[in-house]
Amino acid sequence: MTTPQPPHIALFPGAGMGHLMPFLRLAAMLAKQDSIVTVITGQPTVSITESDHISSFLHHNPKINHLELQLAPSFQQADSAPVDPFFLQMHHINQSIFLLHPLLSSSSPPFSAIFVDFPLVAKVAPIAKTLDLPIYILSTTSVAFVSLMAYLPVLTSNPAEFNKNSAEIKIPGLPPMAMSSIPPVFLDSTLSEAKGILMNTFEWFQASTLAALNKAKVIKSLPPVLPMGPLEPYHLPHDDDGDQYRSWLENQPALSVVYISFGNRTAMSRDQIKELEKGLENTGWRFFWVLKTSKVDKDEQEDAKHFLNHSFLEKIKDKGLIIKGWVDQLEILRHPAIGGFLSHCGWNSVMEAALEGVPILAWPQHGDQRLNAQVMEDAGLGLWERNWDWGPNVIVKGEEIEKKIVESS
Ligand code: UDP
Ligand code: UDP
Repeated sequence: MTTPQPPHIALFPGAGMGHLMPFLRLAAMLAKQDSIVTVITGQPTVSITESDHISSFLHHNPKINHLELQLAPSFQQADSAPVDPFFLQMHHINQSIFLLHPLLSSSSPPFSAIFVDFPLVAKVAPIAKTLDLPIYILSTTSVAFVSLMAYLPVLTSNPAEFNKNSAEIKIPGLPPMAMSSIPPVFLDSTLSEAKGILMNTFEWFQASTLAALNKAKVIKSLPPVLPMGPLEPYHLPHDDDGDQYRSWLENQPALSVVYISFGNRTAMSRDQIKELEKGLENTGWRFFWVLKTSKVDKDEQEDAKHFLNHSFLEKIKDKGLIIKGWVDQLEILRHPAIGGFLSHCGWNSVMEAALEGVPILAWPQHGDQRLNAQVMEDAGLGLWERNWDWGPNVIVKGEEIEKKIVESS
């Protein structure tokens, strides 16, 4: 009798750490189960953090293979191309997708399945079909947001019911949703081309939304939506850069520190920084603030103190730590000193807080984050101040931030 060959799985994330990390977590989980695993990444990446992280991950997981999809040099930035550098990269990868067929078809052993990021699935699906390769989506967002993406084509095909002036929309399995929760629309009917949609979530966190999707109450043609989270974190050895915050955290009392971060690609304006400073100073709470002032790390030039008020820095010096740069968020959330998380509710952050039992005060900024905040609040993990509007030009006042931090503590 011959031993069956282990499956060979291709994992193909799009752009940004919020997409890369769940794919690498799944890659590590599959490799542990004795699958052969190959990660495919678009090169060059947008941020230095992505390229450093890919190198370190592969170095510490030598069984995992890597294929680079070299982005086509002839790519021209069309007027219709997105301005956001991470969405532009998704677009760029999609434009270069003709390079994927030779990568997939020449593999030995041949691939058994491909797991793809949602923004790439429309372009990857026809290639997978010609190779007879089952395709799965690994979703980097909440089940609620997948419901919205699945249902939007139904809504917009009925303009009598769906118009921009409606205050609310209703989607099966979800509470009525404010129209303002819908990010700029990306309609896509290709969800149904996948064999399954793998979700970084767990059953009871989003039970009714999952049930509605899987009982075809949202749309009929959707493949099974499979909760398989929180995705198991992998461990990469510490780098020395984190020594400062590690020793600072060690010296803080248990549950005394608010951790503040808005993910890997959300910058804060100078005006908003000033208000957050005021709010933090007035609460008197201990805090650990990961400050980002540019979307892409390559553009971060100035030190944190150039953005912060001198008197603020003086007043908070025994209570607050401000880091500009990449931190190991999961390690921080795990630390006994952390008592709360002021978060934009990127889906990975929500799952990491759920995994570590850290309550969230939600401050969504864009994309799927309002919906994620609602899911997080409904699951009992924290609070969302709905009056804090979102978007790059909105400023939330320091007094309001102070009030909510105190209320949620
Ligand atoms: N992250 C981190 N260190 C940072 C910033 C982010 O480890 O300094 C991780 C965070 O733990 C999460 C991911 O990067 O796994 C960010 O994904 P999320 O969905 O929370 O937000 P996004 O960055 O996509 O907006
Ligand atoms: N998304 C998309 N097209 C893109 C980029 C993102 O459809 O080019 C989807 C993606 O699945 C993501 C969701 O939009 O989960 C919300 O986008 P967000 O702005 O939160 O992106 P992220 O911070 O996760 O990169």
